[in-house]
Amino acid sequence: MKLFKKSWSWPQPWWSQKRIDKAWEEYYEPLIEEECQKAFELDLKARIEDSNKTEDRVDQNMSFNEYQEEAGKTAMFPDDVPPLFYNAAGMCDEAGEVMGVVKKFYRDRKALDLTLDRDKLVKELGDTLWYLSQAARMAKITLSEVAETNIEKLRGRRERNTIHGEGDER
Ligand SMILES: [Mg+2]
Repeated sequence: MKLFKKSWSWPQPWWSQKRIDKAWEEYYEPLIEEECQKAFELDLKARIEDSNKTEDRVDQNMSFNEYQEEAGKTAMFPDDVPPLFYNAAGMCDEAGEVMGVVKKFYRDRKALDLTLDRDKLVKELGDTLWYLSQAARMAKITLSEVAETNIEKLRGRRERNTIHGEGDER
């Protein structure tokens, strides 16, 4: 692990597959795990701090369907674009903005000594959720059905030990 820390770099085009595999195993994977752990601890800390604040709080126990309904009240769609298309496209657009926040953090964290912009991430995740909820609404699907179906699917995969791999039906 020290070997890679000294000459830190992501895999380069001229690296052999063996070297890339070794770097992933010895350095990148532990690094990602460490980052996830830090992000989790940060999130936990923020959540504990937040749970101590009671004023001006949004209802954090809002159900999926309540959220979907509330989000629908703020919807304004162009009338010359099919609404399902518009919302599905908006969801991808906002997911890209989530990636932008994460990308900037990884790009600049060392040079600018940055921490993850949690507030911005919350907002962009929310924008993605908004479009997701409205794409579902346009197809007459409730957000709770989306969530429940997803959990059922993943539980089934865990029981069949098929979490890893590709394809939706496994
Ligand atoms: Mg946004």
